[in-house]
Amino acid sequence: MRKPVPLSSVCMRFDIVTIFPGFFTSFFENGILRRALAEGLVTVDVHDLRAFTHDRHRTVDDRPFGGGEGMVLKPAPLAEALASLDIAPKAERQYQGVASVVPQELQKEGGALAPEGMLAGNSAPSTRTRVILLSAQGRPFTQAMARELAALDRVVLLCGRYEGVNEIYCDMELSIGDYVLSGGELAAAVVVDAVMRLLPGVLGNEASSEFESFGVADAEIDTDVVGVPRSQHGAGGLLDYPHYTRPAEFAGSRVTETLLNGDHHGIRLWRREQQLRKTLANRPDLLEHSALSKEDRKLLDTIRQETDNRE
Ligand code: SAM
Repeated sequence: MRKPVPLSSVCMRFDIVTIFPGFFTSFFENGILRRALAEGLVTVDVHDLRAFTHDRHRTVDDRPFGGGEGMVLKPAPLAEALASLDIAPKAERQYQGVASVVPQELQKEGGALAPEGMLAGNSAPSTRTRVILLSAQGRPFTQAMARELAALDRVVLLCGRYEGVNEIYCDMELSIGDYVLSGGELAAAVVVDAVMRLLPGVLGNEASSEFESFGVADAEIDTDVVGVPRSQHGAGGLLDYPHYTRPAEFAGSRVTETLLNGDHHGIRLWRREQQLRKTLANRPDLLEHSALSKEDRKLLDTIRQETDNRE
C-alpha cells in the first residue's frame, strides 16, 4: 500500500477503499495515469479495508438485516478507514466545514453533484471532497459527471463487494452502467481514469478532451476556430468521428479522399457529418442534448431520409 500524501498538495487526490488493493497495481503502472502520477498531477492512494478490522479472520462482512441472500460490508471497518482519511461520518459532516457554511438551497442548485449536498469538509473550508460509493444502484457516471468530479480537490471511492455496503458513509452512489459487477474495483478504476485525464496538464493537448466523444457543449467552449461553425469547435455532446492513419489503403479499404487532400475546411465538415452519422446510428439519445447548428440539423434530416430510403 502506498503512503497517503497530505491534502495540502495542489494535485487532485483519490482515495480508494477496497478489500482487493492488489487489483489496482497494474492500473497505476501504465499509460497516462502512470505519467500523471509520476508528474504529481494526481495522487491515488489505495486503502485495504481489512487493515481496519480487529479479529483474527479480518472480517469485513456480516449478514443483512431483514434476511435474504449474501453478505453486506460492515460499517465499522469502513468507519475506521474513513476516519484514518480524516473523513467524519455523514451525519457529522453535515454540521462541519463547508457544508455548514453553504446554505442548503445553494447546495441544491449548484449542479449535478450538489443535490447530494454532503460536502465532506472537516478540514479546511476550501476542501471540496466527495465520498462516493460505487454501486449498480447509483446515478449514471457520465462524461459530464467526470467533469464535475475533476473540479473537486479530493474524491474517496468506496468499492463494494458481496451484496453491497452499509450506506451510512457515502455522499452519493455512482454506477458505471446498467449491469452488475462482482465488485466496485473496476468501477473505481473507470472513474479515476475518466476524471484524471480531464485534469490540467494530464493530456498532452489540453483541447483533446473537448474534441472527443461527449466533449463539452459548444456554449462552454471559448476557443475560437476561424471559419468553423461554432458547433464544430468541440464534440458538443456527440460521439467522436472515425480516425484513420497510414496506409491510405489497407485490406481492400481506402480512406476517403477528403482526409487526404489537405482541405482543412472539407475535413472538418466530413468529420462533423461522421459524428452526426455515428451518433444517430449508435446513440440517438445524445442528439437531444447536443449543441447542434442549423447546418447540423439539415444534415441530420438528410441522413435520416437516406436511412429511411434504404429500409
Ligand atoms: N446487490 C447489488 C445490486 O443488486 O445492486 C449488487 C452488488 S454487486 C454484486 C457488488 C458490488 O459491485 C457493489 O456493491 C458495487 O460496489 C459494485 N458494482 C456492481 N455493479 C456496479 C456498477 N454497475 N457500477 C458501479 N459499481 C458496481
